[in-house]
Amino acid sequence: MTHSSAPRKFGFTTTILHSDRQKDIEHGSLHKPIHTSVTFGYRDARELALVFQGKQSGFRYGRQGNPTVSALEEQITKMEQGLGTICFATGMAAIGALFQGLLRQGDHVVSSSFLFGNTNSLWQTVQAQGTNVSFVDATRVEEVEKALTPETRMVFVETIANPRTQIADMQKIGELCQQRGILFVVDNTMTTPYLFCPKNVGAGMVVNALTKAIGGHGDALGGSLTDLGTYDWSRYPHILENYKKNPVKQWALVQIRAKSLRDFGATLGPESAHHLAIGAETLALRMDRSSHNALQLARMLAQDPNVAAVHYPGLENHPQHDIAKSLFRSFGALLSFELKDGIDCFDYLNQLQLAISTSNLGDNRTLIIPVAHTIFYEMGPARRAEMGIAESLLRVSVGIEDTQDLLDDFAYALQQVTQ
Ligand SMILES: *Cc1c(COP(=O)(O)O)cnc(C)c1O
Repeated sequence: MTHSSAPRKFGFTTTILHSDRQKDIEHGSLHKPIHTSVTFGYRDARELALVFQGKQSGFRYGRQGNPTVSALEEQITKMEQGLGTICFATGMAAIGALFQGLLRQGDHVVSSSFLFGNTNSLWQTVQAQGTNVSFVDATRVEEVEKALTPETRMVFVETIANPRTQIADMQKIGELCQQRGILFVVDNTMTTPYLFCPKNVGAGMVVNALTKAIGGHGDALGGSLTDLGTYDWSRYPHILENYKKNPVKQWALVQIRAKSLRDFGATLGPESAHHLAIGAETLALRMDRSSHNALQLARMLAQDPNVAAVHYPGLENHPQHDIAKSLFRSFGALLSFELKDGIDCFDYLNQLQLAISTSNLGDNRTLIIPVAHTIFYEMGPARRAEMGIAESLLRVSVGIEDTQDLLDDFAYALQQVTQ
């Protein structure tokens, strides 16, 4: 895209749709092609050396970077208004990369206790390896502040926690972290950069599980870390001397690309990157529709006498409804609810015709899962209770079906198990 006048600022979808074409693409191709080559050759061997020494940009070996993946990284950087992005094979690989690249024995992390189950499990591993993790109720900034120690390197939260939809008080946590010079990491998966811009609350790094709503079609795994350019890495104790030759803003990205991506090798494949980039083109359209569906479904369930509780940030009685309203464009596609005692949740699930009993989130199709019996089974009843997970809790990732069809599906299933 070339303009003779000064560059205009485009909207979210326009920016993503045309992000590939900011640079020349082979044969005028509208999509960045899927580059399957593992390595990249140079006619001038001196150039090869310069690329290896980081003095010239370019690709060397596919584990550290690939043109198709790189186009996706730029797309995500634009969505998050960040400085740069590194993609990984999965969302968990992206979170693991933070730990591998930035944390050392004796460090301390403050993490929201309302977490994606596998992130919770990862923090247990981190602790076993000598980094202390304090789990706090991140809906209360006082709890975060109380947990800080001189060794605290990062505060980690999710925007809308899965499955109970608690919302971290991110504005205040961001201010606190900026005052103390602590890295604030936000997992933006549930809101996506379309609903929420973590940079606006002073986050330094953002995680996105691209597998979910950004890819959106349940056909590719992927994750990303975006440096938002707000954190002063000269204050961070564990940047290796070797990487300090780069401008300060780049330090973390360079170190994570080398120490986490290169050395641990959880590289995103080019075919997956292509699927995710195509999915991302319609992120805003899908999020508008699934958020709308989720709000209607939450309202319907909340009025049903056979439903004991509905957790959705768009409902006025949600404890962080006001925070959600002030920070997010809409309330997202995740909701969870509890059936009244005596209704068998498996019988109910088996009556649903459209909503599919499965894990995963952010698909076009509506997905539902009994949380305590599946994704949160391993952690046991005590930790579940701590996290506010009722044994009958059903988590719904609301899709883009026609609204009335979806409402009818949930209403009909409830009639079947209660009459
Ligand atoms: C799914 C998810 C992840 C992990 O992503 P994967 O691609 O499945 O590894 C991390 N954080 C949140 C909030 C998620 O929902």
